[in-house]
Formats: sequence, C-alpha cells, structure tokens
Amino acid sequence: MSEGSFIKKELYAKVKLVELIKRINTRYRYKDIELWILGSKVEPWTSSIDLGRVEIDLKRTSHISELREILAIERSRGRKIALIPTMGYLHQGHLALVERAKQTGAFTVLSIFVNPLQFGPHEDYSSYPRDLERDAHLAEVAGVDVLFHPTSEEMYPWPMVTYVEVCQLDRVLCGAKRPGHFRGVATVVSKLFHIVQPDSAFFGQKDYQQYLIIQRMVRDLNLPIEVCPVPIVREQDGLALSSRNVFLTAEQRQEALILSQSLDEAEKILRAGERSARLLETHLREKISRGSQGMIDYVEIRDAQDLSEVINIERPVLVALAVRFGSTRLIDNKVLEVESLVENDDEI
Ligand code: AMP
Repeated sequence: MSEGSFIKKELYAKVKLVELIKRINTRYRYKDIELWILGSKVEPWTSSIDLGRVEIDLKRTSHISELREILAIERSRGRKIALIPTMGYLHQGHLALVERAKQTGAFTVLSIFVNPLQFGPHEDYSSYPRDLERDAHLAEVAGVDVLFHPTSEEMYPWPMVTYVEVCQLDRVLCGAKRPGHFRGVATVVSKLFHIVQPDSAFFGQKDYQQYLIIQRMVRDLNLPIEVCPVPIVREQDGLALSSRNVFLTAEQRQEALILSQSLDEAEKILRAGERSARLLETHLREKISRGSQGMIDYVEIRDAQDLSEVINIERPVLVALAVRFGSTRLIDNKVLEVESLVENDDEI
C-alpha cells in the first residue's frame, strides 16, 4: 500500500471515529456499533485506538455477557477492576465513590440498578427517581469506564430461590424496620460481584449498615474483593446527599437539617463527658421531635464495628438516625470515637 493511500485510509478512520464518538456522546448503544479500521475489526469497547489516537471513553451496556467481554479484555491487559454499585439518579455522593475508585487506577464499573428485591411491598420501588441519560452523562464526565445498567429481566430472568443473608447485622436499625431489605441488598451485590468479579468495591458510609453487611459477607464467603468505605458527602448546610432528597418539599428539606444537626449535637454532648447511650438517644429523639415534624423511625447508638447494643459509650459508636418527612424516609449517621474526642480536648 502506498503511503498516500495509507494516510487517506487513516484519515477516513479518524473521521469515522469522530462520528462514532459523537454518537457515543449522545446515545451510545453498545450493541449498535461495529468499527472497522484499515480492514480490521476493532472491538467497540476498546478504550484507546492507537491508529486514531482517540480515546473512546464511555461504554455502556445492559447485558451481562457484554460486560463480561469488556472486563475480560481489560483484565487481560492487566487492569484491576473497581465496582461502584448504585441505584442511579446520581449525585455528588455517588461521584465521590467514583473518584475514590479512579484514584486506585482501576478500570471503573458503575452499576445502576433499582433492585426490586430490596424494596418492601409498600415502599417506593416504582416511584424511586430514575434518569438513565442524565446518569450516563454524569458518569461519563466523572470518568467512569463502563456503565452497567441491567434491566430487572437481565438480573432476575427467572424467579429467585437463592438468597444471601448476612444474619445478626441485618436484624437491627434499617434491617429491623425494613424486613428483607438487606437480604435483597446482599443478594444483588453478591450477584454483581459474581458478574463483575471486581478487585475492589466502593460503598458510601451514608449507608453504614449496608457497608458493614457487605464487608462481612465478603469476609464470610472468602470473596477476593477489597470493600472500600467512602465518607458521607453533604450539602453545605449539612444535609446528607441522597437520591430521595428530590422528594422533599422546600419545608421538609429545611426540617431535614435536624438530622445532621442532631449528629453534631451528639458529638458535642459526648465531648462534654456524657457516656450513657440511652440518655444520649433520648436527648436526640427529643431534639428531633421538638425541631421538626419528622416521624422518627429510629434513633440508636450502637457499636460501630458489629452494631451490638451499647450501654456505656467507651468504644467507637455509630449514632444512627432514620426519620420520615412526609413519605420520604431519610437516614443519616456519624461514627464517634470517645478517645479521639478526648484527645482533641487535650490538644485544645
Ligand atoms: P444508592 O444509589 O442510594 O443505592 O447508593 C449507592 C452508593 O452510594 C451506596 O454505597 C451509598 O452508600 C453511596 N452514597 C449514597 N449517598 C451518599 C452520600 N451522601 N455520601 C457518600 N456515599 C453515598
């Protein structure tokens, strides 16, 4: 082939790539794409094509088999895989998980799946906020490598008879108030772990109990996955980011600040020397009832390692709150370590 015709073909390939990238940026359907450059087929999930020196960033698929093909290629290139499981309607809290995952240098898989198995019959499964195209855009900007957004049929093609249950840890807090919730969570996360086979998985401490449950599941089942916790991301005024915040009226949004304010107050009270978990819980309940119209689901202080009951606060504790504002149930929490509070006092 003469140099001239080579360059011509290369240019043609580049033009095709640019067209392709435009399509990717608008509405990329992974299956639609077949890419040929200089007579050889280039797999559409190729993350960088030498010839064109153009990066194709966004890959998205709703198919388990396609995701596995993409991951097999990345793995064969020596990439580690990081998984960020979400239910979508992304916000900065989710994106903080992506950022942490990307910092490890891993190939990042963001899953979006509103998992019917973890919703009770009277919960908000059907009204849970969903906007896949918006999420895809946010994921792309955040540098996610693959967006996996399976349908319910893809995840549960036949009625499930196999479940994963992480006992004890799922009997308290949200587990006690939402029977079957953590069985649904552990089952779907376990399925995602088997589909993706990640080296690491990222979970927000916003759902602290969920993080502990997944960490325990991984330990108990000897899964070779590092479970990485990520601190809670809050609005400037303290409200923990949550996909469900969109359901709050302006008034409820204002009242919901009582959650983070109560957690801050718990810290202050501990710092001042109070050590009785029951007294502290009572104080927080009164504060929430006085300061808002929120209906308390629970206000509890538990051991931060295993969620066991705490009488005297001596070890690190989890202060956990669940409160309903209208039909919107919000959760928030803070881990408090008495020793570090005392140390800080000494420093002052
Ligand atoms: P979700 O889509 O609500 O199921 O959340 C997906 C993941 O994002 C979970 O690991 C959550 O704990 C995490 N997450 C949600 N909100 C926040 C937040 N405000 N800060 C940190 N992580 C969060």
